[in-house]
Amino acid sequence: MTYEPPDLLSREEELLAPYAMRTRLSRGRRHFEAPHPYRTLYQRDRDRIVHSTAFRRLMYKTQVLVAQTNDHHRTRLTHTLEVAQISRTIARQLGLNEDLTEAIALGHDLGHPPFGHAGESALQECMTDHGGFEHNSHGLRIVDFLEYRYADFPGLNLSWEVLQAMAQHSKLRSAVDLKDLAGAGQPILEAQVVDSADSLAYDTHDVDDAIGVGLITPEEVSQVEFWQRAVDQVRQKHPKIGPLQFVPTVIRALISWQVTDLLEHTQERIRQQRIQTLEDVRLAAGRLVGPGPQLLKWKAELEAFLHQRVYCHHRVLRMAAKGRRIIHHLFDEFRKSPEQLPERYRQRAEGGSLEQTVCDYLAGMTDRFVQDEYLRLFQPFSSV
Ligand code: MG
Repeated sequence: MTYEPPDLLSREEELLAPYAMRTRLSRGRRHFEAPHPYRTLYQRDRDRIVHSTAFRRLMYKTQVLVAQTNDHHRTRLTHTLEVAQISRTIARQLGLNEDLTEAIALGHDLGHPPFGHAGESALQECMTDHGGFEHNSHGLRIVDFLEYRYADFPGLNLSWEVLQAMAQHSKLRSAVDLKDLAGAGQPILEAQVVDSADSLAYDTHDVDDAIGVGLITPEEVSQVEFWQRAVDQVRQKHPKIGPLQFVPTVIRALISWQVTDLLEHTQERIRQQRIQTLEDVRLAAGRLVGPGPQLLKWKAELEAFLHQRVYCHHRVLRMAAKGRRIIHHLFDEFRKSPEQLPERYRQRAEGGSLEQTVCDYLAGMTDRFVQDEYLRLFQPFSSV
């Protein structure tokens, strides 16, 4: 081969801050693989996630609103892309490893079942006596075991750092199988960036979507100080703004305000706490990446509003109740008669835990597929 790739590992040394994670410092992969001629370890992680089946399924998975509600609101996939894009902007500004940040962001919601948090709580109920269910630990199960695209290993064989970010995000962090991976101390900054970008993205886009489908009006959100302040900024800058551009402009202002505030306060914490190395990040008393106290307070008020007026809106609760009911019915039915499972899952159920297999099958489904499956099983004379 005559192609001579640039030395990306040395470029990392030139570009990255001293407290950033470097490819050279990675703990590597569970199953050994020779390095790629021109993609770094974390670039390959990112590419593997994008090419995975679980990633493509995010397209038809609920963020807040069930996927068929309309064609404009966020799905789990578009939410993930927004998180990745915001995370990369922040990582680049802070001198962090952008490839690793992107890989963590693109993988952060892979373990979500259909119907969002309603689907998750239904699977938790079904799995109470069988090891439980939690989307982050399920995400790890997908990338470590359930994806089956590679000849030499199960799962995607991602780097230790991406797996650790998923484990540290899990509510079951102290569970036996996650304990080693999650480790002690604070997550690396690349993982902290994704956590913050995730919450920044959903707080903002959930308002946008809720207005878009008519659950709330812009006037109603005005009672939230954070929103109203962004509105004031927009009106001042664009006094003649038209109604079509108004909401997207306020949303943009909110994102940009939060990112700038986060950068300022994160940089300040890094300076004040004299963070010089990765070890300093791990041993810090708390998280270093995040907004300042004033913005955190405004954000909490916005979240309280969203909870009350959007997540608990009767139209959203109806979707959630229906989603939970569908998951419970399917789980009970497959558990009672596993011969109805597709061949691959039936074989696995025979060799292991039936409940875990049914849970894996259901958690992998999209909103669309799970509803079709429900009709196939319970609607009289439907297709089989
Ligand atoms: Mg998310």
